[in-house]
Parts: sequence; structure tokens; C-alpha cells
Amino acid sequence: MKAMVLEEYGPAESGPLKRRERPDPRPGPGEARVAVKACGVCRTDLHVIEKDLPPAKRPVIPGHQAVGVVDALGEGCTRLKLGQRVGIAWLRHTCGQCRFCGRGRENLCESQRFTGYHADGGYATAAVVPEEFAYEIPDAFGDVDATPLLCAGIIGYRALKRSELPDGGRLALYGFGSSAHVVIQLALHRGCQVYVVTRGESHRQLARRMGAAWVGERAEDMPVRVDSAILFAPVGELVPPALEKLEKGGTLALAGIYMTPIPQMDYERYVFYERNIHSVTANTRADGRELLAEAARIPIRPHVTTYPLAEANRALADLKNDRVSGTAVLVME
Ligand SMILES: [Zn+2]
Ligand SMILES: [Zn+2]
Repeated sequence: MKAMVLEEYGPAESGPLKRRERPDPRPGPGEARVAVKACGVCRTDLHVIEKDLPPAKRPVIPGHQAVGVVDALGEGCTRLKLGQRVGIAWLRHTCGQCRFCGRGRENLCESQRFTGYHADGGYATAAVVPEEFAYEIPDAFGDVDATPLLCAGIIGYRALKRSELPDGGRLALYGFGSSAHVVIQLALHRGCQVYVVTRGESHRQLARRMGAAWVGERAEDMPVRVDSAILFAPVGELVPPALEKLEKGGTLALAGIYMTPIPQMDYERYVFYERNIHSVTANTRADGRELLAEAARIPIRPHVTTYPLAEANRALADLKNDRVSGTAVLVME
């Protein structure tokens, strides 16, 4: 298979992923091998590659929004069939036994393993996934269009849940990358008004085209208070202004896996009146299935920019420097 492999950590601009030919992986017990057609590029991949996250497997093939077709099954597989189209996402193992797994919060399981971090992922023409952690892809989506749903979509969906947006309520989105552009479609479909704060004129234009009630560069300029907000930008300094724009009793969800420090805050001004801060940690498989079903019903129209697999470094540098409209997707061949 062809793969883009991380051997040494480094800034995206330095081309840290190397093109390598490798033998096709063999699926172990309970695992399926997938002939990957397309794989989305996520900000978490950047955090892995640039070592913002604690080092895990290395060398590693990044990528956790892969869509392809099952072409081999390991011993004991019962769920997936050869030829079936599936998606591979970030979460690839939970213990099923701890108090978090037992309460339906496997996103907090302490034995989690993640694709493209603890195990090789989808920046390759083949990848292996435990069948219990693969997602069936609804027919409503092509291979490329389905990829953003697998992380950007799932995390956006969980962040939206965690933001406790009431039906018909007002939602603010800080940052307008791939997750946000899925969330805006979910929220509008639920009859909500969406307010978008983002740097970058191209992101603001996309938000306007997609039906935002208001789009601006600074929270301070937002004309109303909102019931719920989601902070996608990994910037702690945005937390106080985002809290200040919440209605009493409102909720701010912090969607990032990584964030710069949050400044000290005055309690009365930013937190009192039952304003809530909810962090968002990974997702459960149920989140993934719910999102794919809701996305197919609406249907969500992902906005993608494609790159050949070999240009993964360029895609990552473009993502890092805010030059991607929607989701960057690597296409195999
Ligand atoms: Zn567990
Ligand atoms: Zn991701």
C-alpha cells in the first residue's frame, strides 16, 4: 500500500509526512481491512504531527476520517461483510467494563485507543479497524463527502449536544472550520439561529452563504446574547468573551482536544447567573451513529477541498494557516 508516514515530529510546513510503500496490513481477530478511498484531514492530525499531544505510536500513519470498502476480514468478524462501505473514525477501542463505559460514557473510558495516534490511520490506501468501531456509511453520501462527518461531524454533533441548544434557540459558533460547517446545518435544520465569529474572510463568506443570522470577527460585536455557544478555535482567550455573550443559564461547549490557557476571569461578569462551561471529550459510538443518521436525513452537504494523498503535507499546512474552505480531504490514487 501507499502511505504518508510520520517518522519524526515537526511543523506541518516542514513536510514531516514521508511517502512510503508498505505491505498491506493484515486484519487481526475482530478486525476488518479497508481499501481506503478518501480520508479527511483534521486539526487533531496537526496536533499529533506537531507534538501538541503527548507522543504515542511512532512511526504512525495519521488520519481518522477514512472511508473505503472492506476487502479482508480477520478471524471472528460477524458484523461487517466483504465489499461493504465503512468509515474509520478517531475512537477505535474502549474497555466496555469500566464505570464510564457502563454508564454510556465510553468517550471517557481510560483504556481508549485512537486511530492515527495509537494505531495506523487513513492517510494510506489501506487501513485496519476493529469491526465494532467501524461505521456504516449511508448511501446519501459519496466517499469524499462522507469523510468530514467521521470526525468533524461527530465532534460537532457531540459539541452541539454538550452546548444544550434549545430547539429554536440561538447558537454562537467561534471558528468556522469543518466541524462548524456541519453544526450550522444541524442547528438551522432544528429551527435555530446561528451567529458565527471567525477570522478569515473566506470563512465568513461561507458562513453567510450557509445561512448564519450574523457573521463577524469579534464576539464583542455580536448583536445579541445566545443560549448556547461552541468554541472550535483552540484559543483560550476567546473563552471570557464567549461567556459574556451567553444568556443567563446558557452553556459554552469547548470542542477542542487542545486549547491555549484560559485567562483569569471575573466571576460575576463571566460565570455567575448559571452560565455553564462544558468541555467535549472525543465521542461515543452512539454519537457517531446518531450523527450519520441525522446527516443523511437532512441531508448535510459537506463542503470539501480535495488533495491527492501524496500532498498530505500541503493539506495540513493549508489547514494550519486557515487556507482550507470546509474540510481538506485526501483522495487516494
Ligand atoms: Zn471503559
Ligand atoms: Zn479529528
